[in-house]
Amino acid sequence: MNNNKEKHNEANRKYRRTHKDKIKEYEKNNKERIRKIKKKWSDKNKEYYKNYRENNKNKAKEYSKKYRNNNQDRLNKLKKEYRNNNKDKIRIYEKKHYKEHPELARKRDRKRRAIKEKIIETFSDKEWLQKLKNTFGVCPRCNKYVGMAYLTLDHIYPVSLAYKDYLKTGIKEIYTIDDVQPLCRSCNSKKYNTIEGTHVSPKNLKDKFDGVW
Ligand SMILES: [Zn+2]
Repeated sequence: MNNNKEKHNEANRKYRRTHKDKIKEYEKNNKERIRKIKKKWSDKNKEYYKNYRENNKNKAKEYSKKYRNNNQDRLNKLKKEYRNNNKDKIRIYEKKHYKEHPELARKRDRKRRAIKEKIIETFSDKEWLQKLKNTFGVCPRCNKYVGMAYLTLDHIYPVSLAYKDYLKTGIKEIYTIDDVQPLCRSCNSKKYNTIEGTHVSPKNLKDKFDGVW
C-alpha cells in the first residue's frame, strides 16, 4: 500500500513538473472548481490540519523566524510600500483595533510617553498657540484651510529619529518653538518620518543638516 502510494506520488510530481504550463492554464480557468475541491478537502481533514499545526508549532515558528531574518530588506521594503499605499485603511484599522484592545492602546501610550521623555521641548503652550494663530487655520504645507483646531503639532526633525539618536548617543534632542510646525493631519501623515520643514532647522542639528532646507 505505502509503496503504491509513494509510486503514485512520484508519478504525480513528475507529471506536474513536465506539464507546468498546462496545469497553470487549467488552474486559471477552473478557479471556482479548485476552490470548492480544496474546501471540501480541508473540511474533511480539519482535525488533521489542526493537530498538525498544533504539533509543529515550534517548527513553524522557527521557519518563519529564519525566513524573516533572511529576507529583512525585502520585507521592510514591502511593509513600507504597503503603509504608503494604504494610509487611510491603516488609520481606520488601528483606531478600531485599539478600541477593541485597550490594553494594547495603553502599551502604545506608555511607549509614546517613554519616547517623549527622551526629547526636550522648550516652548510654552502660549508660544505654540501664537504659532497656530499665525497660520489663520491654513496648513503651511498644502496651503489648504482646515481650521486651527485641525492643525497638529509636527516635530520637524521626527521624534522617532530623535529617539533613535538618543539610544545611540544618549543626547536628548532639543525642540524650540522654531523646531515644530503646525500641519494638517493629511500633511502630517504624508511627512511620516522625513525631515521637512517650512522654516529654520532645529538649532542643535544645524551642523548635521545644514543645506537640507
Ligand atoms: Zn496640509
